[in-house]
Amino acid sequence: MTNQSLVEGLNAIVGSNHLVTPGPDQEPYVTDWRGRYHGHALAVVKPGSTAEVAAVMEFCAQHGVAVVPQGGNTGMCGAATPMQAGPAVVVRLDRLRRILEVNPVANTITVQAGCILAEIQAAAAAVGRLFPLSLGAEGSCQIGGNIATNAGGTAVLRYGPTRDLVMGLEVVLPDGQVFDGLRALRKDNTGYDLKQLFIGAEGTLGLITAAVLKLVPAVRSSATAMVALYDMAKALDLLALLRTELGDRLGSLELMSREQVEVIAEHVPHVTIPFPLTTPFFLIIETVDTMAEVDLQTPLETALGQALEAGLIEDALVASSTAQAHALWKVRHSVSEGSKAAGYVVSHDSAVPLGQQGAFVEAVERGIKAAVPEARVVMHGHIGDGNIHVLGILPHGLVADPVERDRLVGLINAVVDDETARLRGAISAEHGIGISNAGRLARVTDAVEMNLMRRVKHALDPAGLMNPGKIFG
Ligand code: FAD
Repeated sequence: MTNQSLVEGLNAIVGSNHLVTPGPDQEPYVTDWRGRYHGHALAVVKPGSTAEVAAVMEFCAQHGVAVVPQGGNTGMCGAATPMQAGPAVVVRLDRLRRILEVNPVANTITVQAGCILAEIQAAAAAVGRLFPLSLGAEGSCQIGGNIATNAGGTAVLRYGPTRDLVMGLEVVLPDGQVFDGLRALRKDNTGYDLKQLFIGAEGTLGLITAAVLKLVPAVRSSATAMVALYDMAKALDLLALLRTELGDRLGSLELMSREQVEVIAEHVPHVTIPFPLTTPFFLIIETVDTMAEVDLQTPLETALGQALEAGLIEDALVASSTAQAHALWKVRHSVSEGSKAAGYVVSHDSAVPLGQQGAFVEAVERGIKAAVPEARVVMHGHIGDGNIHVLGILPHGLVADPVERDRLVGLINAVVDDETARLRGAISAEHGIGISNAGRLARVTDAVEMNLMRRVKHALDPAGLMNPGKIFG
């Protein structure tokens, strides 16, 4: 079949208004968020129903056309960019954007996969509930993408990653069959829990079209603080102290290095940094309660007073208004934007055992500075879940030549990978593998585990048409 007739076939399924052929209009869909990968696609299609998604998938399977699912295209690893050699179709679910049911009794929300994360948060809030997944891209990422990347974000400490929030899924399989697992059962032990396969699979096993998600009681009271500290290890002592003093009211504990905050201050407008940048680390702390008008400020101030006395922290600012709390969170939510503006980012998404976070950060910073002295090393992370993002930011001039760029990236990756492997950590905690990390996965993963993953992939997608080149390279 010619490319022309393939496009005509797709056109017959979704309609010409919902199909974008190569050209300027297609560019945003074949380029990743970082602007690092530029792919090509026969067409970008926007089906209007699960049945249309199934028809597109069946058509592509019959004609050997690769399918690249794409959500809001905010992913960090190029996983939604069509980079394969042969013909491919990008499938976007922008038209599958309905909230199907909100059930405050069962504490569930059923949504189509093209819903924007912020829309789901708002629908939950409208019935006095919280959908707790929260991340900087929530205004544009889609729940299908969040599930496919098992996104983490800033509330993992209290609520877990996306996987912990998914109860049921509807997925179109690579051959066009529909797996209807859209169930809201808290208890279900009927054989394998198949939905788990698709969570975090980065669109390599099927296309998620709808989901039942868990809701939790809305947060009605909160207190936010920013603290300055000298030592990463002390951040963990602070975590222990806060857990003792505040129990499960501790919602978030987000770390940023001084260099990370400097990058934000330099590149992101309208961000106010409340401290002189004299200590190497800063933490944003949020405590929450589901009851209204609970005074969380006093216990937080008391706990931070104890931390100051014990020498765990150097300074603390507890927000005295909602506006001030938002201003503190604005600093944290600006890390990706600030880093991207500062240069060519070699980003890492490591997870290491909790107690090793301090040693990891020190060793990696030292290693990167020795291997690539021109790199600006910044970091942020989620204290409490072991996830640290170490970024080597290279001046654009230094990476103009792709060969030299790849050499420098390789040097930085080797430092991080070796240290991650030494501590039995993971090279991706929340962003996934995509294209960026595909080469590194096999290097740090046990052969039995890698082979098991390949067998699962082959069982579901024997022709290798679902998002080819991702995860496995
Ligand atoms: P896309 O980028 O479009 O796709 C990501 C992957 O999911 C691809 O493999 C794609 O093929 C697949 N996919 C998309 N939709 C579907 C579907 N319906 N069915 C099957 N597969 C699908 N991530 C975090 O985890 N934590 C953070 O704190 C965080 N902060 C961020 C801050 C900013 C400013 C930005 C830009 C990104 C951030 N991210 C973060 C990364 C990104 O937002 C998440 O990975 C998000 O979950 C991706 O969702 P998306 O809809 O944009 O997916």
